[in-house]
Amino acid sequence: MELAALAQRLEMLQPLPLGYLPTPLGPLPRLSQALGGPEVWIKRDDLTGLGLGGNKIRKLAFLLAEAQRQHADVIMTTGAQQSNHARQTAAVAAMLGLPCVLVLRGTPPAQPQGNYFLDRLLGAEVRWSGDRPLLQALDAEAEALRQEGRHPYVVTYGGSSALGACGFVAGIAEVAMQAQALGITFDAIVFASSSGGTQAGMAAGIRALDLPTRVIGISIAEPASSFRHDLARLTNETAALLKLDLAFSDDDFDVRDAYLGQGYGIVTDVEREAIRFAARTEGLFVDPVYTGRALGGLMDLIRRGEFSPSQRVLFWHTGGAPALFAYTEALEG
Ligand SMILES: *Cc1c(COP(=O)(O)O)cnc(C)c1O
Repeated sequence: MELAALAQRLEMLQPLPLGYLPTPLGPLPRLSQALGGPEVWIKRDDLTGLGLGGNKIRKLAFLLAEAQRQHADVIMTTGAQQSNHARQTAAVAAMLGLPCVLVLRGTPPAQPQGNYFLDRLLGAEVRWSGDRPLLQALDAEAEALRQEGRHPYVVTYGGSSALGACGFVAGIAEVAMQAQALGITFDAIVFASSSGGTQAGMAAGIRALDLPTRVIGISIAEPASSFRHDLARLTNETAALLKLDLAFSDDDFDVRDAYLGQGYGIVTDVEREAIRFAARTEGLFVDPVYTGRALGGLMDLIRRGEFSPSQRVLFWHTGGAPALFAYTEALEG
């Protein structure tokens, strides 16, 4: 379908004008040259603006519009202690004048750092899951608020519902417009993929616009087989919500799980190398949990000859740099 037609479908969901959009798109010449492979470009979704930015702002534009339609009087979500999603949700809630309750995993750290430190500055009330499974703790805390007569709007884990994923259908439309103006196309998009909304939205957007671009998710936490299944379901839901006549199966998703290392949030040489490399070639910060792993994965794929030198690859920077300050020991070591 045409760009304008897709934009119209998205507008019907009445997203809030939250981010500083469009985010910048540009080449990374020194990084590309040092890697000696394809031309690498970057989409700066670390600069979506609100509360130090990141990819969740795009999803929250759609989700918080629904919260307002439902007359919610408190916004809730959940995540890890260093959740970028929680921090961006707290920032958007503050900007809309709504209180925010975050249910974070585990117990409070001795010293607030990074994203958790920012959550507090943003005025979010943080409750800890302790021994409870995270989503169960979130449900219980939401129910407790309802018992008090409040009307919480609970943002899905990572903002990755079909409605949230529409933020990345819109993200693809945005890049398509920018690329069209520059007269270029991308052979692949590479990025950090975790709760799935980013990849699902990209997949739906690419297929809707019939773009010749591969979508390659570097998995941050989950093995490819189960993740691809989740992605197919979420992308089908997203397409249905936008009334796009598209069907997706597990095989439609390219997920690379070779960089999981010791698991979520555990820094290895992959992230250490990528963080220094981006900083020293381009003055660009990637983060220890998501974009460091994704860029490290992209560097490995380039070394292994995944792309030809004549191709153009877009590294979609999804944010996360505030977590650097909570990982100083792991990164200096
Ligand atoms: C949440 C997040 C991701 C992953 O996005 P999903 O939509 O959850 O897959 C990637 N990078 C950063 C920095 C994030 O905060």
